[in-house]
Amino acid sequence: MNPVSRLIVKSANLSFIQKALLTYKKDMPRVVYYHIVSNSLEIPYYYKKNLFSENSLKEQLSWFIKNGYKFITLDEAVNLTKNNEKATKTIVFTTDDGFRENYDLFAPTFRIYDIKPTMFLISNCLDNKDLMWVNKVYYIKNKVSQRTQISICDELAKKYNLAGKFQDIVSFSDTWPMNEKDNLANEAWKLAGLQPINEFLEEHQPYMTNTQVKELIDNGYQIGSHSTSHPDFSKLSDEEVKYEMNYSKQIIKESFGIDGIRPSALIEENLYSNGNYELYFGVKSNLTNIGTNKFWERDKMEQDKDMGQFWFTTIPFVRNRILHPLGKYK
Ligand SMILES: [Zn+2]
Repeated sequence: MNPVSRLIVKSANLSFIQKALLTYKKDMPRVVYYHIVSNSLEIPYYYKKNLFSENSLKEQLSWFIKNGYKFITLDEAVNLTKNNEKATKTIVFTTDDGFRENYDLFAPTFRIYDIKPTMFLISNCLDNKDLMWVNKVYYIKNKVSQRTQISICDELAKKYNLAGKFQDIVSFSDTWPMNEKDNLANEAWKLAGLQPINEFLEEHQPYMTNTQVKELIDNGYQIGSHSTSHPDFSKLSDEEVKYEMNYSKQIIKESFGIDGIRPSALIEENLYSNGNYELYFGVKSNLTNIGTNKFWERDKMEQDKDMGQFWFTTIPFVRNRILHPLGKYK
């Protein structure tokens, strides 16, 4: 959280307003999501801003309970909604990308609170088969000097005909065409002189193994698909979107014998209404809540207690009453 918003959140007495806002649409299930919970300050392949501690997670969960929330599974939420039943003050927990922290840290805490989340997995990364391209990019940024990064950018920009001058690998990766993102990330990794990726995966094990996923499923966790290779969906053709969705679903079915649900960002209504998924999730500028029947929005909750509370209470109202009527949010 930046210092200004921290000051606003801390200085304003928000408890009264928050209490009022918590009554807004309280009969609909809320869906929250996380990636990583960690007690270390940095995970070099992960976007640092999203790291939040086990302690923050516990504070957040206690705050939900204090405010009368009940933790339900995604299936339960789907059934309540399908049957037009009230899901008053209910929360569904989800995690993205399938990082090992699901097993190491989320699971022990969730067990205490009897939370059975849905984990959205990237099928290419499952079982540490590969490191997702964005995580490769962050690892290079954190491990290699800016000078080296600039020379990597120059070399690859020339090779792949990408225009522009880049100050670091992260800004360069914003320009990557999605059908070349994995090649670019792998070439950048080699040019950075890092250890071979299979050695890296063996040593760091960024993701859960299939055995760990199975164990969590046996403990009541649900799983869903979070695409095949984690592209930016806004840059894909319809055919590519279909592949990303269908292939990951197939791998999940083969690996665990069950169908997955996938959360997606910016997919057109006609595409997902014809798809074979039961539910789709979106994330739009952090402003999330339940949308229409097949398309649900989620709340990003990897924030410390104050900021997490602030977002959780404010977002549905802001989105539905302010942004949506103005046509800024669809
Ligand atoms: Zn993701």
